[in-house]
Amino acid sequence: MIHKNLLLIMLLTIKKALSSILLIFTLSAFSEINNVSIIIHGGAGWSADMSQDDIDGIKKALEESANKGYEVMLKGGTSIDAVEEAIVILEDNPLFNAGKGAVYTSEFKQELDASIMDGSNLNAGAAASVTNVKNPIRLARHIMENTNHVMFSSKGAERVAKEAGLEIVYPSYFYSKEKLERAKKKQKESKMGTVGVVALDAYGNIAAGTSTGGMTNKKPGRIGDSPIIGAGTWAENNVCGVSGTGHGEYFIRLGVAKEICALMKYQNLSVEQAAQTVIDKLRDMGADGGVIALDSNGNPAMIFNTAGMARAYKNSDDSTYVEIYIDK
Ligand code: ASP
Repeated sequence: MIHKNLLLIMLLTIKKALSSILLIFTLSAFSEINNVSIIIHGGAGWSADMSQDDIDGIKKALEESANKGYEVMLKGGTSIDAVEEAIVILEDNPLFNAGKGAVYTSEFKQELDASIMDGSNLNAGAAASVTNVKNPIRLARHIMENTNHVMFSSKGAERVAKEAGLEIVYPSYFYSKEKLERAKKKQKESKMGTVGVVALDAYGNIAAGTSTGGMTNKKPGRIGDSPIIGAGTWAENNVCGVSGTGHGEYFIRLGVAKEICALMKYQNLSVEQAAQTVIDKLRDMGADGGVIALDSNGNPAMIFNTAGMARAYKNSDDSTYVEIYIDK
């Protein structure tokens, strides 16, 4: 009996040692792969007359978001983890039109949308028209991973969030004097401030996510492209990941995010060529917008047909590119 126990302990010790060796190998492999990349947008259509404070605030938040997502992946986290955590940073920042900074509907309330997609298995989750969920991207991920469905809306989505123990807030959490005034003036502002992230992790998995308050003065119940898989968000391993921002109705009609990946997959276009082709089509239809995308090697595309699109990109070069307007 004693011998048996001794043998068992010895076997367990060997097993533990082997898994430690495996972990060390895996970690050192990560540091050599060097292809962890993350790309972020903070909405297209920012006007050219923004205050320097706002410009600085937006750039700082984008950098913080990119660094956060990147760090998550360097520590062995997946691209889905990176997308979620990078988006939460922007959802919590009132400068963006997502989470805390969501814009108002024509009835002066906020209705938030978000989606996320895992390119490794084409699994996806989305939440639309939620009014009390602090971080809709967390709800989208929960829907993807813990339900048999892809999309929930309004009260049903809020119930799922509550049951999952996600943070529920009073609608007053989203209050913004300035954004409310804009809605009251019936101002159809340029589409700006939606947020999106695409990440490629050390395992080669691409993920994408998008979160928004939609468009100022949208009719209650209106849902744009951001929570629609294939329109505002798409991720497919070995092809690409995309998140869009702009006039959602057109993004839905063109199936923008999936169309970009389809051009790459079936016509061998580069990520830049594919994104440019689709954004040109949008412009021909009279719609404003932009996209961020990564190919399976982490090459970026940041294409927009507006004066600016808040954007950031970070890869293993370690420097973070952050810009709002057209590169000089
Ligand atoms: N695409 C979003 C929507 O239509 C708005 C935006 O990106 O600014 O809801």
